[in-house]
Amino acid sequence: MIVFNKPPFIGKETEYMQQAIANGVLCGDGPFTKKCSAWMREHFCVNHAFLTTSCTHALEMAAYLADIQPGDEVIMPSYTFVSTADAFVLRGAKIVFVDIHPETMNIDERLIEDAITERTKAIAVVHYAGVACAMDEILAIAKKHHLKVVEDAAQGVNAYYKGKALGTIGDFGCYSFHETKNYSMGEGGALLFQEDKYQEKAEILREKGTDRSKFFRGQIDKYTWVDYGSSYLPSDLNAAYLYAQLEEFEKINEKRMSIYNYYHEALAPLAEEGLLERPCVPEYAVHNAHMYYVKLKDLKERGAFIAYLREHGVQATFHYIPLHSASAGLRFGRFHGEDVYTTKESERLARLPMYYALTDEERAQVVNAIYGFFGKTR
Ligand SMILES: *Cc1c(COP(=O)(O)O)cnc(C)c1O
Repeated sequence: MIVFNKPPFIGKETEYMQQAIANGVLCGDGPFTKKCSAWMREHFCVNHAFLTTSCTHALEMAAYLADIQPGDEVIMPSYTFVSTADAFVLRGAKIVFVDIHPETMNIDERLIEDAITERTKAIAVVHYAGVACAMDEILAIAKKHHLKVVEDAAQGVNAYYKGKALGTIGDFGCYSFHETKNYSMGEGGALLFQEDKYQEKAEILREKGTDRSKFFRGQIDKYTWVDYGSSYLPSDLNAAYLYAQLEEFEKINEKRMSIYNYYHEALAPLAEEGLLERPCVPEYAVHNAHMYYVKLKDLKERGAFIAYLREHGVQATFHYIPLHSASAGLRFGRFHGEDVYTTKESERLARLPMYYALTDEERAQVVNAIYGFFGKTR
């Protein structure tokens, strides 16, 4: 069976993890964590980058730092992972879902302004498949209505919007280094932001409500409880695993891009015949081959497609069930406007195996199985 995902492993992870053990620092903010943060600041041109235990936790930090209060409203797409909403629900916010663009599955920025009320505090955008949302338009709306912009860039590490790294454009950016993402540490993530004014509060929040970060920098001689906080620091062992991948980020990216381009070209004849649709990348976006998906006619055909591929040794998967139709979504949120594309497009989408270790033979087998489903041979 060609599985849907394998966690990335580039080779040096083991050595770096051994080095972390030899360093004698297994807790958070050790030498490898510092290397990872410095690497992100440099490569993604961002002033602050904190490694976290997950993207979910980075989103929780962002919602807290954005000062979301009970009763506030946050606008986001319904076609996303639960964590985008959960982080704001934790702060007592009401989630307002709007529809997506069918071409990119990203929030339709033209629908945001109509969903704004006097309670709206933030817009949370999701760069689906590492393809950027229309950030200029979204930032202009946010500025006009004094809203914070949180980027769920879980899938957008090393992807760009008009030259800017995703996750560095809004007020806060959140990355995931989960084993299903392009660069991984098993479980992990990062919170990014440009403005210095958030630094102290972010450090305190991440360090259980203490000013321990200042203490480690020698700015104070003892640390105490100064505010609300939690523990969002990953172990330096995990950071060591991640650092090996960040060092080889180009190699990982090239491999993923080659798989993406292979699928895209190999499936072009089927797309031309109108049998399936392939993903679109807007001119302004440089994506990172986080995902390759195809769209079938409808839910029924997608079910048959996934089942056929499985019978032929290929694990393809569907993706998000729109949040507004889930039981928690009904409780914590509402859909503003009409659901023209969210449900319909989500039901047609199937993701193909996409990971660093996928071989040339395997990707060819995936494509052959797809041709087989349509009763064709290549
Ligand atoms: C993976 C993912 C998350 C969650 O990331 P974790 O690191 O597992 O918490 C959140 N949002 C999106 C869009 C994701 O793809």
